[in-house]
Amino acid sequence: MLQLIENPPTWPNGARCAVCFAYDMDAESLLHLYYPEDSMRRITLSSALRYGPRIAMPRIMRIWKHFDIRQTVYVPGWCVETYPDVVRMLADEGHEIGHHGWLHERVNALTPEGEADVLRRGIDAITALTGQRPVGYRCPSGAFSPQTLDLLIAEGFRYDASLAGDDVPYMIESSGGRMIELPSDHALDDWPQYVNMRDFNHMLPIQPPDVAMRVFRSEFDAAWEGGGIWSSVWHPFVSGRPARAAATVELIEYMQDRGGVWFATMAEIAAHIDGLVSRGEWVPRSERLPFWSEPVPQIARPIR
Ligand SMILES: [Zn+2]
Repeated sequence: MLQLIENPPTWPNGARCAVCFAYDMDAESLLHLYYPEDSMRRITLSSALRYGPRIAMPRIMRIWKHFDIRQTVYVPGWCVETYPDVVRMLADEGHEIGHHGWLHERVNALTPEGEADVLRRGIDAITALTGQRPVGYRCPSGAFSPQTLDLLIAEGFRYDASLAGDDVPYMIESSGGRMIELPSDHALDDWPQYVNMRDFNHMLPIQPPDVAMRVFRSEFDAAWEGGGIWSSVWHPFVSGRPARAAATVELIEYMQDRGGVWFATMAEIAAHIDGLVSRGEWVPRSERLPFWSEPVPQIARPIR
């Protein structure tokens, strides 16, 4: 068969690919970030978002328990402090709590000092509740900044899961050092499939779960064939609704039936890659950040 993914790493126990159902538990951080003036009056939006930590996350945890797998949830620090019980339950059941900002800030719009403060507050919130410092980071809203990598390295993070530059883990480097990137892609995000929210100007038609799962399953099949990593960017309040949760159960069953799938937390995947690289058993690709130091001059401009 034609190999479409170049230079895949080996996976534990001869597995064909690595899978992590990674969720971003944003809850009402989005409400307070985007509507600071009248967040108190937006009761309906608040209720849809808090469905995530209150109803959907425990349901997703029941699914994980059923299949006996440990997965990863990225949680903004403010959500850790606002919904401590569910975050503690996740940690107690062996799931990884990753860093996802403080209030879901778009850090590429902040000063470097502001971004550093947000990073520290998020680390402190997770560490205080779980007793474990986060080792993984996923940037809120995909707003990775030119300083993000240096800040993550300075704070001792082990991996990032914000970028989309390959189908297998790779290294990102800057003047400050280098770090493992565990890439994903918008094709594995649940927003384009299911979210229709006027408050966020996101008005795509809602897909039936079996249509959405065709997208996610195709990506899985390709990762399985080529030795890649499949890591979702899902949200409890979106993918944790009953019909979508039921379709998720079927997807996990499908993956298990194919066989040779390594279900792991993103931290475990990063540790595995770290081992391969440090033992010289695999040489990952590497990319230096940031990509551009100045705007590219445009030699002609559109007529307005
Ligand atoms: Zn998020």
